[in-house]
Amino acid sequence: MSNRELVVLGTSSQVPTRERAHHGAVLRWDDELVLFDPGEGTQRQLTLAGVSAASITRICITHLHGDHCLGLPGVLQRMTLDGVDRPVDLYFPASGQEYVDRLRHASAAHDTLPVREHPVHGDGPVDTWPGLALHARALDHRIDAYGWRLQEPDGRRMLPDALAARGVEGADIGRLVREGVVHVDGRRVSVEEVSEPRPGQSFAFVMDTRRCDAAVDLARGVDLLVCESTYLTSEQDLADSYAHLTAAQAGQVAAAAGARRLVLTHFSQRHSDETLFAEEARGFFPDVHAARDLDRVPVPARRPSEGSQPRG
Ligand SMILES: [Zn+2]
Repeated sequence: MSNRELVVLGTSSQVPTRERAHHGAVLRWDDELVLFDPGEGTQRQLTLAGVSAASITRICITHLHGDHCLGLPGVLQRMTLDGVDRPVDLYFPASGQEYVDRLRHASAAHDTLPVREHPVHGDGPVDTWPGLALHARALDHRIDAYGWRLQEPDGRRMLPDALAARGVEGADIGRLVREGVVHVDGRRVSVEEVSEPRPGQSFAFVMDTRRCDAAVDLARGVDLLVCESTYLTSEQDLADSYAHLTAAQAGQVAAAAGARRLVLTHFSQRHSDETLFAEEARGFFPDVHAARDLDRVPVPARRPSEGSQPRG
């Protein structure tokens, strides 16, 4: 199993159908498990997907329409039941605070889960944690909606042959990483000569929105883009009326952004065959995965670093 992958929980917009659960997904990223937009039934979808609710570290909600949040009470109560006592971070549009308050107190429950709320008031960086930063951008929907981007900072990859050639070993490697330079047998070794650039990976989550520049900016160069595609081009009038994207528009967003892989989800109940959405998006972007409930989609392997040859 990849240690960076998307686990699709549900793919239906507005209402669950016989084939699709309400919308929702989790992103496994090393030690983080980020839950996005828990629609109704998320708790059961987690079970079917083999993902432990107790492992969720953060929850991001794009907006407070029901297909993106009605599963929140169940998930939070389940985490309490499972004895989670570490903080869980919850990110959401600040204007949705009253709905978040109600969802967090939707039924009689003994609430001991330490939830840290992060209402988002505008575009920009929202939070950082070891090796990852969370950014938000306002999308263009009928109520406040934010898209999310997770960005790993660029780093460096150590080259074992180069280290060995210069006699750098053991504790000296740690010192080299921390201080950028180390002296071995009187010779100076810099981190640049024994490592190569390692571009950070990134992920974007673009939900309910019209076509907008913010969607493209969020997805700029990401390794994995999850994008709503509620309708097909033949329903462009519905997409415009309800402020949603068609599959073609989702493909155009991915292409304009230079994303690497596109996952389509949040399908209208009018369509039971998601391959129609993939076909349409492929007219604009090659690597398209039209999600089915419980699919697992790996974050593509890291891009090879550019302009750097191993030395040593
Ligand atoms: Zn929706």
